[in-house]
Amino acid sequence: MELTAVRTGSGIFRVHRAGCDDIAKDAAQARGSARDLDAESREAVIRLLWADVLGDGGAPGAFQSCAGRTDFIGCTWGLPATSQA
Ligand SMILES: [Zn+2]
Repeated sequence: MELTAVRTGSGIFRVHRAGCDDIAKDAAQARGSARDLDAESREAVIRLLWADVLGDGGAPGAFQSCAGRTDFIGCTWGLPATSQA
């Protein structure tokens, strides 16, 4: 799924489906940058957005911590939690 993530001033990513009308609103409010990405699961999105923190797996609990700072907006419905093998 093609997605757009907006990083807010408080360091949280708000993830929208690409083209969502709310992206511009979020970006303006956050005065942050929007980043386009293509991922097949929430887990993949989190690993992409937080790659600098997670590295090759990260510290224990790091993934959950990053997941907690990643908001999947309603428009991303249908995006599975993890990639299907
Ligand atoms: Zn949206």
